[in-house]
Amino acid sequence: MYSVYLSNSMKLVFYSIAGLVILAALTYLYLHISFSIKCPKCGKIDEERITRSSLARFFSRFIPIKAYHCRKCWNEYVVIGH
Ligand SMILES: [Zn+2]
Repeated sequence: MYSVYLSNSMKLVFYSIAGLVILAALTYLYLHISFSIKCPKCGKIDEERITRSSLARFFSRFIPIKAYHCRKCWNEYVVIGH
């Protein structure tokens, strides 16, 4: 009985951590991926193109993305489809 209880609580811990990781990933994507030229963090249009990271360059082979750098809040983000 004790081992079942332990594995259930381990499962609960695992799912809590997995949930937090997914939430963090979604927050990260929300702040760093935009479908318009506006900064997804502060909403300002005051950006400058930056050199894409190797990851962004890799994805840009398949989808049209450009990397920008917000001059108001220093947020780096990629714009998809522009
Ligand atoms: Zn910004």
